[in-house]
Amino acid sequence: MISPTVEQLMKDHKETMMIPGENVATVMKEHPLEHALLLLSQAGYSTIPVLDREDHFVGLLSLNDIVKKMMGIDGIDTSTLSEYSVADVMKTDVAVMREDADLEDILHLVVDSAFLPVIDKAGIFQGIVTRREILKAVNYTFHALGRKSQAATKVLLHSHSPK
Ligand code: AMP
Repeated sequence: MISPTVEQLMKDHKETMMIPGENVATVMKEHPLEHALLLLSQAGYSTIPVLDREDHFVGLLSLNDIVKKMMGIDGIDTSTLSEYSVADVMKTDVAVMREDADLEDILHLVVDSAFLPVIDKAGIFQGIVTRREILKAVNYTFHALGRKSQAATKVLLHSHSPK
């Protein structure tokens, strides 16, 4: 179990932990793979969230998923890209989180995922929490705890020093 002090310190960082949806590169599940490949290369990320027309989170699309679809017996065939849509290759079995998720659950999930899509009760995409932002919050928490314990030691020493 994570101590309430640590949980509170991590929560101090909550505001900055999620990259809001409007700043996240996403792709629609209906888009042809040709378009998705362009989007992925422009965004500069190897994996991005996939949404439906109502902004529900429906999966993740990676460069690898597209390349696999292009691979034929004779090598890469880019002509197949226009025949398939994002929905044909995206991964749907992925971990997601709610904004009010427990820190402990989030930490477990980011061990295996570079980022977690955040959804609301209705499954509407809210943004992502990346492992990088979590590590920044962990770093902040360790330093804050260090400062707290130093301050406590000083108080203790002061109260025991001869008057
Ligand atoms: P980072 O921690 O910044 O390296 O991001 C980890 C992963 O999260 C990236 O490889 C992307 O798959 C995803 N990601 C981070 N920021 C964005 C963004 N603004 N839009 C879409 N995906 C992102």
